[in-house]
Amino acid sequence: MRYSAWEVFRNGLTGNKAWKPVWRDPEPKQRYDVVIVGGGGHGLATAYYLARVHGIRNVAVLERGYIGGGNSGRNTTIIRANYMSTANVKFYSHCIKLWENLEQELNYNVMFSQRGLVALGHSDGQMEAMARRANFCQLEGDGGEVWSLEECRRQMPYLNYDDPRFPIYGAHWHPNGGTARHDAVVWGYARGADRLGVDIIQNCAVQGFRIEAGKVVGVETSRGFIGTTKVGMAVAGRSGEVAAMAGFRLPIESHVLQAFVTEGLKPVLPTVIGFGMGHFYISQSDKGGLVFGGDLDGYNSYAQRGNLPMMEHVAEAGMALMPMIGKSKLLRSWGGINDMTMDGSPIIDRSPVENFFINTGWCYGGFKAITGGGDAFAHLIATGNYHPAADKFTLKRFETGELIDETGAGPRPGRH
Ligand SMILES: Cc1cc2nc3c(=O)[nH]c(=O)nc-3n(C[C@H](O)[C@H](O)[C@H](O)COP(=O)(O)OP(=O)(O)OC[C@H]3O[C@@H](n4cnc5c(N)ncnc54)[C@H](O)[C@@H]3O)c2cc1C
Repeated sequence: MRYSAWEVFRNGLTGNKAWKPVWRDPEPKQRYDVVIVGGGGHGLATAYYLARVHGIRNVAVLERGYIGGGNSGRNTTIIRANYMSTANVKFYSHCIKLWENLEQELNYNVMFSQRGLVALGHSDGQMEAMARRANFCQLEGDGGEVWSLEECRRQMPYLNYDDPRFPIYGAHWHPNGGTARHDAVVWGYARGADRLGVDIIQNCAVQGFRIEAGKVVGVETSRGFIGTTKVGMAVAGRSGEVAAMAGFRLPIESHVLQAFVTEGLKPVLPTVIGFGMGHFYISQSDKGGLVFGGDLDGYNSYAQRGNLPMMEHVAEAGMALMPMIGKSKLLRSWGGINDMTMDGSPIIDRSPVENFFINTGWCYGGFKAITGGGDAFAHLIATGNYHPAADKFTLKRFETGELIDETGAGPRPGRH
């Protein structure tokens, strides 16, 4: 069924009884050409591009829970391309361009909103970095300018300018940044992949791999053995665990990141705002809730839940930046397990096991990369070559030391 205004009208007249399930619920087959492990945004987008771009349709996505139950359904949905290292600038700009056409391509409303992103600067050094970021964005055609303090006051009168712990010097305005509805992105890719013949199999945990002569030949799952020629792993915070099943280690640490949402408010925040000194970022959802987040918990964990100390820390940062937030009631908070690399940049590469490919290391920035990450991973799996927009995200860089250290924070995952 193709979604359209006509379908909404027609189904409205007939009691909304003719809508079809958005994807099938198939039993696993004995064998697939490609098995993708992980039904998050990256796994589903990879399956979609394998089928649509490369014509590989005998594909299964195996998800141990429900699709989008991982980070893809738990994030603060910020999309941006305001990076500075060449590899990241090229890749995230590619992602934004795919986002811009995603709804038409998938025939699905993912509520992509290029409402713009303001990255605040709080020192001369930060403002210099903002100017460089704006220049990088302009060079890639993603727009960008530097706002003075006066412009910030004009655009965002609700920020704390008069008694701040960290005075605002100005900002980088990134007009192509924004947000999308996280669940809708997952559902849209799932529907797109399903329509092209991909089997999306939920409640199917991968428990091991069958490897013969260094080559993967199948996947042991909670629903039995599935034979395959190629495996693509896209399991975010579980990457270390799943790689261990295949007998190799990754330079990944799993850390919890939390997000928060207030009660629904009238529109008060037209853009996304990032606080340069407090690691606090905020936007307003289409339902009206202020959605915000902060730092990692700071220790390794597989606990997919929030806790009170981080809630206090993030609330403090929010109050320091925009005291008006104190008047709203916090409705919910939650956590997701992030796959942190040592340089803060992702890995889209082969692994030490032949025909076993890895997509990981998204840290807390992988939602915006679902489009380009899926595209690049599918390209690698299908052709054996790196996608030109993602050819620097290799595993080998951690051996050679050619890190893509965007923030200059060194090999400390907790700092990226
Ligand atoms: C609180 C929070 C806020 C964030 N904010 C942003 C943001 O604003 N912008 C941004 O760009 N990014 C953000 N991120 C990061 C982003 O959400 C992730 O990088 C991205 O969603 C990763 O997608 P994924 O498909 O790789 O992983 P996931 O969506 O986590 O999917 C992985 C899937 O693999 C499944 N799985 C694991 N083990 C197995 C197994 N053995 N067998 C089968 N399936 C398995 C899991 O159940 C899961 O569904 C945030 C993350 C969090 C937690």
